Amino acid sequence: MTAQVLDGKALADELRASFKERVATLAARGQRPGLAVVLVGEDPASQVYVRNKVSACEAAGMHSEKIVYPADASQSEVLAKINELNQDAAIHGILVQLPLPKHINEDAILEAISPAKDVDGFHAENVGALVQGHPRFIPCTPYGVMKMFEKYGVDLAGKEAVVIGRSNIVGKPMALLLIAAGATVTVCNSKTRDLASHTRRADLVVAALGKPRFVKADMLKPGAIVIDVGINRIAEGPDAGKLCGDVDFAAVKEVASLITPVPGGVGPMTITMLLANTIESAERILQERN
Ligand code: NAP
Repeated sequence: MTAQVLDGKALADELRASFKERVATLAARGQRPGLAVVLVGEDPASQVYVRNKVSACEAAGMHSEKIVYPADASQSEVLAKINELNQDAAIHGILVQLPLPKHINEDAILEAISPAKDVDGFHAENVGALVQGHPRFIPCTPYGVMKMFEKYGVDLAGKEAVVIGRSNIVGKPMALLLIAAGATVTVCNSKTRDLASHTRRADLVVAALGKPRFVKADMLKPGAIVIDVGINRIAEGPDAGKLCGDVDFAAVKEVASLITPVPGGVGPMTITMLLANTIESAERILQERN
């Protein structure tokens, strides 16, 4: 069996094209969606992510602001900026690029963002709403994965799903969304004993552990659906410098029924869902005002 490859890039392009009309409608009503991205420090990967987010906003006709602080900026300085953005009527979404420098308390920063503008969905209030099954903002990466299931007609009800990784950003919210969709979910982590015994009985595996090409073909049931969230840069060998996922794509695509590639799978969907959350936020604010 050779798997069908889920094209995240094509779906992202389709969704972003559809956003333009919603943005134009909002702009005509004086509510152009606006995203503020706060970056602390000079981490090169974070700089690239922030640049991509800002340019995606611009391409969709949205307003965006990039706020950059040096690595030694104080926590109170960043908190003051967040408070200002919470009050700013031109801003509907606030995102603080993670990771933050060690002297800054990540929880304190994330909790300072107004839950109504928390387009990453990391605020405790929004996590609680997600747990209860009526989310306000769905974290962008798992939201993108769910959109891919919708697009490709994957019925999750009754499926055995295994999520590898339990981070607040990917693994946990992914598991919650799969639970809400009626899947039977197992969440694995670095302490899991005999990971393959879990993945081998899964109809669906989401790999979000951050280990290059870790999930091998013999860890999967033939016909499984495989979602690769990982983004890793290959350190050595003939592919040095290239990106790869957490799944051994070349071998796994011969046993899976559906698979996402890296690059071109989940990655483009993540920024797309950030735009979606910002637009939804602006629409909600407009609705509440009227
Ligand atoms: P993270 O915070 O480092 O979490 C990794 C998780 O994987 C942890 O829960 C860890 O377990 C678990 N893990 C590590 N080794 C394992 C193993 N051998 N077996 C089972 N579980 C294991 O990473 P993250 O932020 O969730 O990101 C995961 C990957 O997705 C990274 O490659 C990241 O770059 C990528 N990512 C991609 C996107 C996108 O847009 N496509 C967005 C976000 C992240 P413990 O909890 O026990 O340590």
